[in-house]
Amino acid sequence: MFCFQCEQTAGGKGCTKVGVCGKQPEVSNKQDELICALVGLARASYSKAPSKNAVELMLKGLFTTVTNVNFNTVTIEKLIDEVRKEKESAGNAQDFPIENLWSADSDIMSLRSTLLLGLKGMAAYAYHAYVLGKQNEEVNNWFFKGMYAFGEDHSIEEWLSLLMEFGMINLKCMELLDEANTSAYGTPVPAKVTTIIEKGPFIVVSGHDLLDLKQLLEQTEGKGINIYTHGEMLPAHGYPELKKYPHLKGNFGTAWQNQQKEFDNVPGAFLFTTNCLMPPKPSYMDRVFTTEVVSYPELVHIDEANGKKDFTPVIEKAMELGGWKEDKVLTGINGGTELMTGFGHGTVLGVADKVIDAVKAGAIRHFFLVGGCDGAKPGRNYYTEFVEKSPKDTVILTLACGKFRFNDLNIGEIGGLPRIMDMGQCNDAYSAIKVAVALSQAFKCSVNELPLTLVLSWYEQKAVCILLTLLALGIKNIYIGPSVPAFFSQNVLNVLVEKFNITPITTPEEDLKKILG
Ligand code: SF4
Repeated sequence: MFCFQCEQTAGGKGCTKVGVCGKQPEVSNKQDELICALVGLARASYSKAPSKNAVELMLKGLFTTVTNVNFNTVTIEKLIDEVRKEKESAGNAQDFPIENLWSADSDIMSLRSTLLLGLKGMAAYAYHAYVLGKQNEEVNNWFFKGMYAFGEDHSIEEWLSLLMEFGMINLKCMELLDEANTSAYGTPVPAKVTTIIEKGPFIVVSGHDLLDLKQLLEQTEGKGINIYTHGEMLPAHGYPELKKYPHLKGNFGTAWQNQQKEFDNVPGAFLFTTNCLMPPKPSYMDRVFTTEVVSYPELVHIDEANGKKDFTPVIEKAMELGGWKEDKVLTGINGGTELMTGFGHGTVLGVADKVIDAVKAGAIRHFFLVGGCDGAKPGRNYYTEFVEKSPKDTVILTLACGKFRFNDLNIGEIGGLPRIMDMGQCNDAYSAIKVAVALSQAFKCSVNELPLTLVLSWYEQKAVCILLTLLALGIKNIYIGPSVPAFFSQNVLNVLVEKFNITPITTPEEDLKKILG
């Protein structure tokens, strides 16, 4: 096996014996075979509009190979068969040779892999929009263009231009998902979320798929079962059409990498709708359920039939376990029991005048977007310290699950607005971009001239597509950590530093000093 797609890759170079994430070699090899088959499908469909089934398989196939999604050779093999069948009906073409997948000149390999990993991330976003009935033809077609291009030879300049083109397409995809979510569930509003778990049966929903959460809320209504979000599902509390359910009670636990500790012997059921699933421990394996593209051998998978899912096995398990006998006080990383979310672009731009006045009056000196994925490395304490040490006249915008490092901290308010504002899931990077563009228009300057710095943490492939979007928009001076991706060769990194001034993080004190001058 060879895999270097995520931040925790072995030795910062690549997993070759077994994945640090728990992915076994046979699963990794099957995922490679799936990617090669998807290149074949792109080749077969390239000169014509891809069929509906080809689009669905492309999204599902790429999403399946994202880190911490699928650990099951059986479901991957089934997908490979379906992709090959679709390829035949599209006119047939050669799959990409599996032996060539991870072998090329190091710069070409770096650029080619960056495109593939970005496409994997975008597939997750397009898939979430797709299940809500929203598609964009240009985005759909670009998956085929991108996977076709992945299988061809290009010069370095051509690869770089493909990556920039991809970044702009991913912006469209995030916009599509934003529209899908807000049209289905309303514009997010600020919401206070408790981390205390009430006594009695409960289900914890993890991942990003709001439709799964909605269906589960409907099916548990009036049954005496409480529902809690976990990880990237936290921003669900901000959506009016989800928060209206009184049994959507709060948030369980912190970010994904703590699940093996936090789920241990818990008397509740867990549902994984997307990444980030870790191999479950025996003490709680019987109560973990998967759905959508998530799959793990031996776990019960909830399938869809006629656009609906039947969550009865999850509900029955929660009833059988019964929950805690008394309310259980769980806390965030820093001991807090209250989290805020719901500061999407609708809310932040709704108070834009207030924000602009506060900047003009000097009450707000700088904005930081401290966002991205969380992970297990100790170096990630950087983000907690960065927020703790940020001066009182600065605002922290945040998104994705890296915020669990600091979202239970009370660092005060500026002009009635909390200093930490959670904009949502990782795909809500779209919200941050909208806010940045609106501020730049209000101040009649470029985004790079705003008192705004992006301090990002990355872990998996959705962070790759977001980074490419930010670069394609010409956003410079991004701080990135906790380490530089293994798939960036030295030359590619040099280009990113020269062209965009991408800066690896150092220490919170040094970086704050550098940014604030
Ligand atoms: Fe290794 Fe990450 Fe790949 Fe898992 S997803 S095998 S940890 S590089």
